[in-house]
Amino acid sequence: MVSRTHSFARKLLVSALVMASGSTFVAETASAGAPIVQTQAPGYYRLVLGAFEVTALNDGTIDFPMDKLLIGESPDEITADYRKVFQKLPAESSMNQFLINTGDRLVLVDTGAGSFYGPTLGNTVNNLRAAGYTPEQVDDVVITHMHVDHIGGLAKNGQRFFPNAVLHVDKAEYNYWMNQANSAGASEAVRICFEVAPKMFNPYLAAGKLKLFQGDTQIAPGIRATPEAGHTPGHSFFVVESKGAKLVLWGDVVHSAPVQFHDPSVRIVWDSDDKRAEHVREIAFADAAARGYLIGAAHLPFPSFGHITKADSGKGYLYVPLNYTKNRSVENGGH
Ligand SMILES: [Zn+2]
Repeated sequence: MVSRTHSFARKLLVSALVMASGSTFVAETASAGAPIVQTQAPGYYRLVLGAFEVTALNDGTIDFPMDKLLIGESPDEITADYRKVFQKLPAESSMNQFLINTGDRLVLVDTGAGSFYGPTLGNTVNNLRAAGYTPEQVDDVVITHMHVDHIGGLAKNGQRFFPNAVLHVDKAEYNYWMNQANSAGASEAVRICFEVAPKMFNPYLAAGKLKLFQGDTQIAPGIRATPEAGHTPGHSFFVVESKGAKLVLWGDVVHSAPVQFHDPSVRIVWDSDDKRAEHVREIAFADAAARGYLIGAAHLPFPSFGHITKADSGKGYLYVPLNYTKNRSVENGGH
C-alpha cells in the first residue's frame, strides 16, 4: 500500500513536470547543476517614509583604494579597519541615488556617473526603469554636489536624460565648477569636474530648466536643501520629511563606513576644504545620533538607509543599516 501510494505520487510529479515543461527533459535533468548566474538583482530598494515613497537607486559600484584616498589614518590602520569588518582593499563602494515620490512630484537626488567611470557604474536610469518609473516622469533633479559621480548621468551628447525635469543645485556650487578659472587652484583629483560640469548643465540651462538655490531652500513640499559646504564649496544635504518621519540624504559626508564612523576626523582627497568637511561630518553624525532620524548616503553600501548611534566605547559612532522591510512605513526611531 505504501509503495503503491509512493509510486502514484511519483507518477503525479512526473506528469506535472512533463506538463510544465512540455517534455520529459526537465524531469530527467532536475538534479543537474543550475547555471552560476553572476549578476545581481536590479538595484532599487523602496522605503515608505510617512506619505512618501523613497526608492534608493544603485548606479553601480566602484573600487576605491581607501588606503590611498583617506587622510588622517595610516594605510596600515585603514587596511586593519577594513580587515576587522571582513573587507579588503580596494573597497567595493556603492554609488546611490534616491528617487522621492511625494505623491505629487517625483524628485531624483543625484544621477550617478553616467559613462564617465567605466562599465561598473552608470546604471541609474536602468534601475529607475526597473523600479517602474521612466526618466520622463521625473519632475525635479536635485544635486548634492557637482563631482562627476553625482552629475555624470544628467546628459549625453547635449541630450538631457530627464527631459521634463527642472535641475536644482546650490548657486555657490554651480558658480565654482562652471568657472574654468577655478580649475588651476583645485586638486588634480577633482579637475575633471570642470570639464564635465558644462557638458551636463548647459543642456538644462539652454532648455530653461536650471534653477539655482541659496541657503536653506524648500525644493518641494517635504523636501528641503540645507547648505553643508566643505566636501565642495556648495555641497548640500536634502532633508525629506513626511508625517513625522524624517530622512536626511547626506551626499558625500562619508565615504568609508569602516573608518570614518569611528573616527570622523578622517577625510578624503576629494574634499575641497578639509576642516569644513570634517566639521560638517562631526555635526551630521552627532545630530543623527541625537535625534534618531534615518540617513541615506551616496557611498554607503546600497541601499544605504540606516541610523547612527554613539559607539559604546564613547569614541565615535556606529552606522546601523535599516532592518529589511517589505513595505512598512518607517517612523522616526530615536532611542
Ligand atoms: Zn561621490
